[in-house]
Amino acid sequence: MSAELHAMGSATQPLPPEVDVAIVGAGIMGLALAYHLARLARDLKIAVIERGYLVSGASGRNGGGLRMQWGDAGNVRLMMESIDECKGLAQELGINLWFRQGGYLFLARSEAGEQRLVRNAELHAEVGAPTRLLAPAEAQAIVPQLDVSDVRLASFNPEDGVVFPWPFVWGYATQAVRHGARLRTHTAVTRVEPVGDRYRLQLSTGESLLAARVVNATGAWSHGLNAQLGIHLPNQPHRHEILSSEPLKPFLDPLVVDLGSGLYFSQSTRGELVTGITLPDADDGSDTSLSLHSSLRFLGHISRTLVQLMPIVASMKVLRQWVGPYDVSPDGDAIVGPSPGHPRFVQVCGFTGHGFMMAPAVGRLLARWLADGTQHPMLTRWDPGRFASGQAHRREDMIIG
Ligand SMILES: Cc1cc2nc3c(=O)[nH]c(=O)nc-3n(C[C@H](O)[C@H](O)[C@H](O)COP(=O)(O)OP(=O)(O)OC[C@H]3O[C@@H](n4cnc5c(N)ncnc54)[C@H](O)[C@@H]3O)c2cc1C
Repeated sequence: MSAELHAMGSATQPLPPEVDVAIVGAGIMGLALAYHLARLARDLKIAVIERGYLVSGASGRNGGGLRMQWGDAGNVRLMMESIDECKGLAQELGINLWFRQGGYLFLARSEAGEQRLVRNAELHAEVGAPTRLLAPAEAQAIVPQLDVSDVRLASFNPEDGVVFPWPFVWGYATQAVRHGARLRTHTAVTRVEPVGDRYRLQLSTGESLLAARVVNATGAWSHGLNAQLGIHLPNQPHRHEILSSEPLKPFLDPLVVDLGSGLYFSQSTRGELVTGITLPDADDGSDTSLSLHSSLRFLGHISRTLVQLMPIVASMKVLRQWVGPYDVSPDGDAIVGPSPGHPRFVQVCGFTGHGFMMAPAVGRLLARWLADGTQHPMLTRWDPGRFASGQAHRREDMIIG
């Protein structure tokens, strides 16, 4: 095994029999947390346990979009912090993240969509995010290939951007290991049970591990471990399909989102057009399954919607099509913090279609909370107990997909 692979954990990484914090799931959330916690609290023994390979979950299957354009002040502020953090992150993690700030361009084609953009632009001005409203012709000046004939209004924030998700995950993994966390891949946690004031984790390799605190960072799979402890949270998986094209000459700066259809597309630094859309729910319920098989239905639906908005791509070749799971929280807010009835079993899930962009800030804030109890207002709001206590409110209306 090469030294570099080992630096990102491995299937043979030895684990101690007891740890202070066991993080289950090595997606962007588990790894950003492991990195910050290992840096902040050097005396803590931390293990991260991942069932598959790194980037096998949603963190390796997403569109890599990062934006401040949200409909709720808390999310706008959090994303301003997260994007700011991304500016120095390639140096900090020692890896090229392909971070490119080409902006996000939202298009509204209905009156309701138009009102959403106006309301959000006012909110962004209050919070200090540089979003501006654009007439259709101004939007077309940014992306000349768009057909804006039925666009009523657009909004643009030049500081939004895209990254390449894989090195992002690898960067956090490498640095978490460098700072002392143990990262075991290709090993599932098959059972979790309380033992006194700790938890015993049974692993698919036959080993077991005692942990003073456990973090459930298994995203769309989180209900599996929760159910074993009798924790019932309302987040549920939702299949989301996406594709990338053959490399094209660079022509597209921003990530474009059509509010009405939920279509989004951006051009990666490697030239591929990366585009996704959420399908209207399938009658057979397959959209809420964890099946990661691509569908022809998606290919037809996205092709029609994309070509209507940007006719120039009609003859573009599709190179890859894949699926990833959204972990959908019913009120649109993430689920982060101690579990009801199990304060030492901590959730970091429910990030729907925006966990990647929030991870730099969330990893740091949650690590701080685990290290010394400092609780950021967003963590209070994301408390898993809010559903049972009836305090869940829908605040966010800019969730795409
Ligand atoms: C198609 C698509 C496009 C998206 N686009 C964007 C975007 O543009 N911007 C954005 O911010 N977000 C986007 N998202 C959402 C984003 O990808 C997720 O919110 C984020 O990656 C969640 O990270 P995570 O670490 O919580 O979950 P994951 O990355 O899914 O990690 C969970 C890990 O837990 C592991 N696991 C599960 N069960 C066990 C077990 N029992 N034992 C051990 N390990 C286990 C899994 O193998 C997995 O690796 C998109 C998602 C999809 C699917």
